[in-house]
Amino acid sequence: MAEGKPKPPAFGFVVDATCGATGARAGRFCTPHGIVETPAFLPVGTQATVKALDGADLHDLAAPMVLANTYHLYLRPGTEVVAHFGGLHRFMGWPGPILTDSGGFQVFSLRQRRSRGTARGVSPLVRIDDDGVTFRSHLDGSTHRFTPERAIDAQVALGADVIMAFDECSPNDDDRAYAEASLARTHAWAIRCRRRWAAHEAARTNGSPQALFAIVQGGNFRDLREQSAHFIADLDLPGVAIGGESIGFSKSLTRQILEWVVPLLPADRPRYAMGIGAPDDFLAAVARGVDLFDSVLPTRLARNGSLLTADGRLPILNARYARDPAPPESGCGCPTCQRFSRAYLRHLFKSGELLAHRLATIHNLHFCISLMRRVRASIVGGEFPRFHDRVLDRFTYPLPRNSLPADPLPWPR
Ligand SMILES: [Zn+2]
Repeated sequence: MAEGKPKPPAFGFVVDATCGATGARAGRFCTPHGIVETPAFLPVGTQATVKALDGADLHDLAAPMVLANTYHLYLRPGTEVVAHFGGLHRFMGWPGPILTDSGGFQVFSLRQRRSRGTARGVSPLVRIDDDGVTFRSHLDGSTHRFTPERAIDAQVALGADVIMAFDECSPNDDDRAYAEASLARTHAWAIRCRRRWAAHEAARTNGSPQALFAIVQGGNFRDLREQSAHFIADLDLPGVAIGGESIGFSKSLTRQILEWVVPLLPADRPRYAMGIGAPDDFLAAVARGVDLFDSVLPTRLARNGSLLTADGRLPILNARYARDPAPPESGCGCPTCQRFSRAYLRHLFKSGELLAHRLATIHNLHFCISLMRRVRASIVGGEFPRFHDRVLDRFTYPLPRNSLPADPLPWPR
């Protein structure tokens, strides 16, 4: 494929307002499939579906953008199947903006897993070299290889608005030598991804343009994070992400890393903190100048019977709700709270009814999306610090972000 410059940008980002001494900002990220008002929470649709919902539900919820997972869709149904249908927007019946991750996070997560039938610690599912990663499918054990170029090709076939550079997610340890080698790989791969993306854009004859974001890594080392922020900013891409295993492995470290990194990023590009999904973490990241977030947390909590409310989590399975006629959250405007009681929702969960997952997911996504809308309004109105304190004073959130509940069945993973 010939190298070349991308055609004129179909993407743009404008900052509408910033708020006082904080780094909080309200912006608009323009994509070929719609404008994303920021700060924004992106629901995760791992398998080209936000579990239990379809595109019409997401439209009704005013979901600003949806994230889909390249690794999962590459393995099943295959990126060529999605391409055959003209890309993810048509395949999943969602006309709004879509972002795909590069597959890097899922591939590197396989490091923690071992192949079935082999001795523990003997046969990892992943081999990393400087050119790319060889991994075995968690579905059937078949062997595959991702390189930066193949990760971009897969995302071009999927056709999302925003695609991500293939990176190595910072390992959750303090091995300095490994962190340095890993970061060097991530940076070299980002350059290769940019080259491949630019070639695709220059050669594009149909379909919408795509924007490439690259990812700041560097683990918990300040100098590596700063070095990475400078490097990724200098790539001059349409957006920048901050990665890691939910960035810093703890709430306080995540906040610290954002304080190191964000001031070094270009002010005129969207900033995306990957894997942040707890409402108190949204607020902390917004205060530090982040624009975009994604996480499976709100939807997974919903399927476990945990409803997000302004007062914290409401465990709908608790016996005290068995005869409670109140909506899950009083004053909530979501379709679930408009029509159903806590008692009914609890009954659905206790009976293993599929509708339980759907109604709870609708509520939790509405909570996150409307919280972000109010965050944005508070920034525009110059009241973000007061809004931030008011929300946190009321909201108690006992679940640490790194303790995700297991995904309940009946859906296959
Ligand atoms: Zn509701």
